[in-house]
Amino acid sequence: NRQIVLEKRPKGMPDEETFRFKEQDIRELKEGEVLLRTLYVSVDPYMRGRMQDAESYIEPFQLDKVIEGGSIGEVVESKSENLQQGDIVIGMFGWQTSYVAKEKEVRKIDPSLAPITTHLGILGMTGLTAYFGLLDIGKPKEGETVVVSGAAGAVGSVVGQIAKIKGARVVGIAGSEDKISFLKDELGFDEAVNYKTATNLKKEIGQACPNGVDVYFDNVGGEVSDAVLANLNRFARVPVCGAISAYNLESVDVGPRVQTTLIKKSALMQGFTVGNYSDRFQEGSMQLGKWLQEDKLKYQETIREGFENIPNAFLDLFKGNNTGKLLVKVADR
Ligand code: NDP
Repeated sequence: NRQIVLEKRPKGMPDEETFRFKEQDIRELKEGEVLLRTLYVSVDPYMRGRMQDAESYIEPFQLDKVIEGGSIGEVVESKSENLQQGDIVIGMFGWQTSYVAKEKEVRKIDPSLAPITTHLGILGMTGLTAYFGLLDIGKPKEGETVVVSGAAGAVGSVVGQIAKIKGARVVGIAGSEDKISFLKDELGFDEAVNYKTATNLKKEIGQACPNGVDVYFDNVGGEVSDAVLANLNRFARVPVCGAISAYNLESVDVGPRVQTTLIKKSALMQGFTVGNYSDRFQEGSMQLGKWLQEDKLKYQETIREGFENIPNAFLDLFKGNNTGKLLVKVADR
């Protein structure tokens, strides 16, 4: 079994010293366990937070231990009554080529309903994050303007499309011209702004939102969010989902203070994690699946190949080298 473990807690952007490849023997199965062969591994921005030894909503990764995260595997050997050889399962077994799982640690998925990779993206964690953050906190109404940052990513691309389904006018913010065309031409966003080429982002967002911003779904924080918050309408809602622009900073991110804006605009800003909604995941993935079937939702995946490329794929998230959900294919089915 090959594993990628956390070698050293990074300061700033992780690099080759952060990770180490390690070989480990596979132990005998006990009753109720299965041996998995990893097929796909998810790389996600939140993993950067777990590399730090800091208090959070989720435990830090341990040094010399495998990097945990969402993965999809195939059962190759089973001592479980509920799982058979050939079954496809999802779990949190992370960056390793094999894993001995207790049957309760994994969930079987049905490959005949949707491509298995969708369970790590649109029908899984990132799709659910978009669904609950937008609908439960953002609460977009017909005709309102919804702005989403990180718009061409896994979460953002779903946020914008759900907002369209709800009848909102949707403006995305992303970091390349290809992504701007993708949002407008493929996903049906009404407008999209390239934050990397904008000379006055606040003004460009204002122009893209002539009626102001009613909902801002924030995936990135930093200066992009400062520029959007300057365009808020009265009673705006701001679901704070992520702050990827700050994850590799070595000092506190300082920017305009938001209190007076929130007061003047009677706006609501609320952070959340998708885990808050775990008792409603079933509802969320059913609805997302239904929209997919009805062709109301589209999804994009960026799939890298090869176990050894997982660390670089992870770093690609911070360089913007992905459109939609970024995954690594480790083995053929
Ligand atoms: P994405 O697929 O959106 O990938 C990350 C994207 O972030 C990149 O493609 C890049 O796009 C953009 N980005 C990178 N650096 C910067 C920067 N400095 N400023 C602005 N944009 C940047 O990832 P996810 O969809 O998985 O996650 C999106 C956000 O949602 C993250 O902040 C993540 O932590 C958060 N999240 C929160 C969850 C929760 O429960 N609260 C659950 C899941 C995700 P570009 O080319 O446009 O720069």
